[in-house]
Amino acid sequence: MRIGVVGAGIIGLAVARRLAELRPDATVTVLEKESDIATHQTGRNSGVVHAGIYYAPGSLKARLCRLGVAQLHAYCTERKIPYEECGKLVVAVDESEVGRLRELERRATENGVPGMRWLEGDELREIEPHAAGVAGLHSPTTAITDYRAVARAFRDDLETGGGSVVLGAPVTAIVVGADTVRVRAGEEEREFDRLVVCAGVYSDRLARLAGDEDEPVIVPFRGEYHRLAPGREDLVRGLLYPVPDPAYPFLGVHFTRRVSGGVDVGPNAVLALAREGYRRRDVRIGDLAATLRSPGFRRLARRHWRMGARELRGSLWRGAFAAEARRYVPTLRTEDLVPGPAGIRAQALDPDGSLVDDFRIRHLGQVTVVRNAPSPGATSSMAIADHIADEVLRAS
Ligand SMILES: Cc1cc2nc3c(=O)[nH]c(=O)nc-3n(C[C@H](O)[C@H](O)[C@H](O)COP(=O)(O)OP(=O)(O)OC[C@H]3O[C@@H](n4cnc5c(N)ncnc54)[C@H](O)[C@@H]3O)c2cc1C
Repeated sequence: MRIGVVGAGIIGLAVARRLAELRPDATVTVLEKESDIATHQTGRNSGVVHAGIYYAPGSLKARLCRLGVAQLHAYCTERKIPYEECGKLVVAVDESEVGRLRELERRATENGVPGMRWLEGDELREIEPHAAGVAGLHSPTTAITDYRAVARAFRDDLETGGGSVVLGAPVTAIVVGADTVRVRAGEEEREFDRLVVCAGVYSDRLARLAGDEDEPVIVPFRGEYHRLAPGREDLVRGLLYPVPDPAYPFLGVHFTRRVSGGVDVGPNAVLALAREGYRRRDVRIGDLAATLRSPGFRRLARRHWRMGARELRGSLWRGAFAAEARRYVPTLRTEDLVPGPAGIRAQALDPDGSLVDDFRIRHLGQVTVVRNAPSPGATSSMAIADHIADEVLRAS
């Protein structure tokens, strides 16, 4: 059996590794357009191993995150990849947020997240001495890791198992035949019996090439980070998060400790004017036109333009970003923040303008397409791989 995988991010590599492990007789080939692996979402995320607090019980996210954490923890330990259970504190800054924090506690319990504790007053300050807030939910097992290192280890496993990663191989055409799939990758044509598409921010375009529906489209949201300036990293001990607003689950200033040292503050979420535009000035007319043409995006923009404007203000003006961050750490000064890197979220959007919340994976005969795998996609990568590999091999 010849299996092709498009995309050498953490999900494509995890899927390829798992397929090679389950079917040692198969030839597994990963096609990646860049000259290295993990250059997009996988190499530009927050590095958090989410414990499964937020996700709707019963959803794919809830299930695969819990399974994924256990697998990733064991894998990092075995492969000596940094994995630090620094813990996460989610804080309600005022009484209006306490109800939503209680709902998170309920979800976390239902999802089986271990060790959760409800904290008030000074108990909060014992965990994070500089944090503000009237109540907090503490997850001691939430961890941080290095997802690039995890992706490299997945590639090593794949290659040891006889599979390969072809770099500099952009997939530009997919033709699905009766039993096989022909793929144009760079200058070459390749034929596979099964194809799995894990193309991140381009997953909708590749899905369409493979004959899938147009929707959901991907809307790229850039997440810009600041960093705590050297000498101020002790403002936060572990991970300090806001209570998410159900309408904007990925918004709100987070403080995230890194395994490499230092603390990131962010990311925010502003519309990216190019799908891989990591700088504010990066614009690709084709990408922008596709976003603006999408009915889902227009509905989203009409409904949420105020929030969009607020995020943009924080992006353009460090003082506004710092003011938001000060709600959680009142002693933070604007000069404590220095510019950090940026990542782009591949967020799928349904035509009615709602953000696709759960992981979305479509099986279309010989082709499987990951159409939505936002956070906690990296945390869940090994469980997503099991889920996809079972389905791909069952269909064979
Ligand atoms: C700012 C930010 C913070 C995040 N924080 C966290 C976190 O703390 N914890 C967590 O669990 N998750 C987090 N996530 C989510 C996580 O990073 C993603 O779920 C995960 O990386 C998705 O992996 P992927 O392999 O699907 O995508 P990617 O890593 O984006 O990989 C897709 C790959 O496909 C390739 N590709 C695309 N088109 C083609 C083509 N035509 N031909 C060949 N190759 C192609 C790309 O070059 C790329 O290498 C975060 C994401 C972002 C953006």
